Amino acid sequence: MPTFFADLHMHSTASDGSDPPRALPQLARAAGLHAIALTDHDTAAGLHECADACRKHKITFVPGIELSADPAAVRPDRQPTGTLHLLGYFIAPDSPALSEAELHLREARKTRNQRVVERLRELGVNVTYEQVVEQAGGDIIGRPHIARVLINKGYVRTTHEAFDRYLGQRGAAYVQRDRLSPAQAIELIHRAGGIAVLAHPIQLRLDEPDQLDHAVAKLVDLGLDGLEVRHSDHDGSAIRRYQNMAERRNLLITGGSDYHGPQKPVQIASQGLDRAAFERLCASAERR
Ligand SMILES: [Zn+2]
Ligand SMILES: [Zn+2]
Repeated sequence: MPTFFADLHMHSTASDGSDPPRALPQLARAAGLHAIALTDHDTAAGLHECADACRKHKITFVPGIELSADPAAVRPDRQPTGTLHLLGYFIAPDSPALSEAELHLREARKTRNQRVVERLRELGVNVTYEQVVEQAGGDIIGRPHIARVLINKGYVRTTHEAFDRYLGQRGAAYVQRDRLSPAQAIELIHRAGGIAVLAHPIQLRLDEPDQLDHAVAKLVDLGLDGLEVRHSDHDGSAIRRYQNMAERRNLLITGGSDYHGPQKPVQIASQGLDRAAFERLCASAERR
């Protein structure tokens, strides 16, 4: 396995990762990294803590975020399928634009969870929102917690079954999340002083090269700055494809593992950038 200088994609307990932000730099150090970015979903809450720990462990820190946006706006088929995530790098952790958006997204998530519970009740499933809150324990509540309640009450046996029957995109109680448009997500990242990068292009599930090219062209029109060329979901041929696309469109190149904690199969430092690529990224980001 190649050793990388920088892993620019990881999550902490501030979103859906299982390591606290302060624990990541030490893990990074042990894995041979010299630079990391923390890119929690829709929140900058872990950035200060992670930055402090990075200073202690002499790791270069890039403050980041990963925003979910509606893929329909950039897909040639205009369908809401696939996943569109935009990474923001070199953002200001205390940007008022970000805290405003975080508040809005938290509200949207709460409304969505409440509507899922309502649908479940209409389907005759005896759950309450309070039970889901209690199951979650902390302040971040997601569908996995609803799944847990369904398992505890004997409605399903596994999380997989809960998503299959009720909570997944084809499930009976599925509620579409109120998402940012790609334009809003990119603008938000720029307003926070960052550069906007398309995360794991493969997850858009546009397998024909010209389809993905169409989506990337639209994002570039909206101000996209870069492509995440290296990611745990990308094999060698995908990496070459995205590398070419980035060079052709003069986009910045990033890479990272998408580490979520030791209980998930993806290891920290398993993807990333070598030193030269990281330095190129930093220099170009500064110019933008
Ligand atoms: Zn993602
Ligand atoms: Zn991620």
